[in-house]
Amino acid sequence: MIGGTRVVVATRNPGKIREMRRLLGATGWEVCDLDAAGFRGDVDETGTTYEENAALKAVEVAAATGIAALADDSGIEVPALGGWPGPRSARWMGGAADDADRLHGLLEEVEARCPSDRRARYVCAVCLARPGAAPLLARGETWGTLVEPRGTAGFGYDPAFRSDDLGITFGEASDAAKDGVSHRARAVQALLRELGLTV
Ligand code: IMP
Repeated sequence: MIGGTRVVVATRNPGKIREMRRLLGATGWEVCDLDAAGFRGDVDETGTTYEENAALKAVEVAAATGIAALADDSGIEVPALGGWPGPRSARWMGGAADDADRLHGLLEEVEARCPSDRRARYVCAVCLARPGAAPLLARGETWGTLVEPRGTAGFGYDPAFRSDDLGITFGEASDAAKDGVSHRARAVQALLRELGLTV
């Protein structure tokens, strides 16, 4: 796969789409979203691991659209809480909750259950499904500490995640700084290496 290839990013999360467009910018691929690819509806995340969910989404969208599909499944894990919320990071509070509810809910859980160990990591699995080829999977992670929210950049739990690499929260980080160390960037770079692309 090289420049000129069309790839649909199989997510309806606007924060993920923005990041994927940036991370794939140097590939020369034409990146489009689900609407532009003509895919209506959603893909149920019925797997129990990031990899299973990323593969479910990518394979279904590639089959339905006939276009190569890149899906991401990601989450935040608190080791002191047994890795919770993990692959359920977007759903653990139920359908009515938004990003802000989940961020404050996570901080409340940490405060109540493991206030002296606030270590956390983001994990991301990406899957590239191409019509007629075996799906490719890759994973990335990045470590930090959960803190009082600071900054408005990024999405989801970013304002409460102080990155070990940056020393500031992802909510305070520029796009370029987050892309230099993020779980999603590391997963995409690993995938591009599998494809023999170094960008
Ligand atoms: P899913 O991959 O669609 O199941 O959702 C992953 C969820 O994990 C997101 O909705 C966020 O709550 C969280 N998450 C994953 N990656 C990030 C990130 O880069 N920043 C902030 N939150 C993230």
